[in-house]
Amino acid sequence: MSRTAFYERLAESLREIEADGLWKAERIIVSPQRGEIEVEQNGVRRSVLNLCANNYLGLADNPEIMAAAQEAIDSHGFGMASVRFICGTQDLHRQLERLIAEWLGTDDAITFAACFDANGAVFEPLLGPEDAIVSDSLNHASIIDGIRLCKAARHRFATGDLGDLEAKVTEARAAGARTILIVTDGVFSMDGVTADVAGICEIADRHGCLVMVDDCHASGFIGPEGRGTPALQGVADRVDIVTSTLGKALGGGMGGFVAARSEIVDLLRQRARPYLFSNAVAPPLLAGAIKAIELARAGDHLRDRISANAAHFRSAMGAAGFTLAGQGHPIIPVMLGDAVLAAEFARRLLDRDVYVTAFSFPVVPRDTARIRTQMSAAHSTDQLDRAIEAFIAVGRELEVVA
Ligand SMILES: *Cc1c(COP(=O)(O)O)cnc(C)c1O
Repeated sequence: MSRTAFYERLAESLREIEADGLWKAERIIVSPQRGEIEVEQNGVRRSVLNLCANNYLGLADNPEIMAAAQEAIDSHGFGMASVRFICGTQDLHRQLERLIAEWLGTDDAITFAACFDANGAVFEPLLGPEDAIVSDSLNHASIIDGIRLCKAARHRFATGDLGDLEAKVTEARAAGARTILIVTDGVFSMDGVTADVAGICEIADRHGCLVMVDDCHASGFIGPEGRGTPALQGVADRVDIVTSTLGKALGGGMGGFVAARSEIVDLLRQRARPYLFSNAVAPPLLAGAIKAIELARAGDHLRDRISANAAHFRSAMGAAGFTLAGQGHPIIPVMLGDAVLAAEFARRLLDRDVYVTAFSFPVVPRDTARIRTQMSAAHSTDQLDRAIEAFIAVGRELEVVA
């Protein structure tokens, strides 16, 4: 009886999700990830423009990265079948970690299976019940989960509101916190907004706090040599902890990392549960990421291309009358409000060979549904113009723009 009731309850939740227009369907891509991809629908293959990958530098199908990954399979095998401390650390792991540290100017770095794991790992070993974490209210789900796993007191500040941040830091201090860690996304991915990391560091200095930045939507393509938001704002030396992903601009494979002082990295190697109890990153992913970081560091031409693409798309879409969120970042959300409208908009764009994803609750707050477009260095101006034309046509059909 109770088993039956359980499955009925799940079925009811699924029906509700669908009825609310919040169903997330997965489309099948049959080509590599790139600016123009092939999708299969009802057995028919077709080519569509892709505006929703985190493939900022266009490296997901880069031949040099693919060759590096293939060579690593030959020289280092396919997988590790071990956690790092048992028999899962190859020279490639240390090579990648040292490269990340050198690139970001930290003592060391430690890799995880994903940045979700890095964020799940980082708090609990470093902070205890005597400590406090002050976290931006829009921080990524993995940060929120990581903080939940840690016994430190939790404070949330209104997103990007430095006044509120300082109030929360003061509150934590007054409550007797031993160590206070301020945590922010470098870039808020649902809005395309860059955090004021320099401003956060100033407050941290005044109150003796540590600072952590999750730079997943910046690493590789923001700042000098793609070193991210702290470097862009000239505070890389002040930020204590950077977490980021190998699964977005840096080739889009898999893996995450924490870059920090050696005391932090060493302690994470001893205590971080997703490191101690989960498989080591596979050799081809390591070699691909090493090559991707090399290409990203030397990739000013790619960063110029993304900036030009973002400026072009933003200005044309704004001129067409769309409401856009964010600023100065290749994430350009087209705000639609209603979840059903956003889903329908995305469906019609696909009919016009433009692949985008509608984001709705719980990924974004209710009634702020949007289509989040993401520019890539892999897009040509012609391709973007095709996308803009399709947006305008569908926008008129659905009476979003005149
Ligand atoms: C994508 C993302 C993550 C998760 O990274 P994975 O390596 O895919 O697990 C964590 N934080 C932020 C801000 C992200 O955008």
